[in-house]
Amino acid sequence: MPFDPIELARITEEIVCDGEKRKYYRFRYTGFYGGSATADVVGCNLRCVYCWSWKYVSNPEKYGRFYSPREVVNILNHMLRKHGGIARLTGGEPTICFRHLLEVMDGVEGEFVLETNGILLDEEKVRELSNYDHIFVRVSLKGVDRESFERVTGAKGEYFDKQIEALKLLAKYGVPARPAILFNLFPKEKLVELQRMLLRISPRYVLELEPFSNYGGALERLRRAGLHLHSLEEYL
Ligand code: SF4
Repeated sequence: MPFDPIELARITEEIVCDGEKRKYYRFRYTGFYGGSATADVVGCNLRCVYCWSWKYVSNPEKYGRFYSPREVVNILNHMLRKHGGIARLTGGEPTICFRHLLEVMDGVEGEFVLETNGILLDEEKVRELSNYDHIFVRVSLKGVDRESFERVTGAKGEYFDKQIEALKLLAKYGVPARPAILFNLFPKEKLVELQRMLLRISPRYVLELEPFSNYGGALERLRRAGLHLHSLEEYL
């Protein structure tokens, strides 16, 4: 049975948020975005079959420890001063424990990339994000429509609309943003339809196409979910 990702976010919050603190399982400097000070959060409200962070996403009670926003900011800023680049939270859904996220964004020196599935971004939250002039939001779309969203995430298909709604709100409030998708799970014609729809929301919404990577047993989970990869030639 598909689940409700808002309800799962609520349950997850009880496990991974504690007052101003949030659970993290790792801090590292990576090459993404040309160099990024990265903090891996624990906890997500989806269960994407291809999730590279599957082990942590499925066991939020088992992994990580609580950090205050100040502790996270200190670690990220230390990496930024040493190596430069941008800061980001990844490994789960950063908009869970939203107050914690805002405090981290407040303290980070330099650009902050918010990688999100967008489902929790309602109008009030997007309005708050619009107060920050050093952030960029990357909304990772999980399907090309309701049906594919449900198969990929395990969540109710209607929540695909929430992803699109988040992009509309980000455009409305002038928050710099971009949609991304792991493209080779979907037929080319469906991606073209999705791209057309996104461009009607904003001319800046050009899909970032990310190929599938077999991290953490993702291919096996893909097979079990009855999904398959399209050949890259199909997209030429
Ligand atoms: S939204 Fe991201 S972190 Fe959450 S399950 Fe999907 S891929 Fe993993």
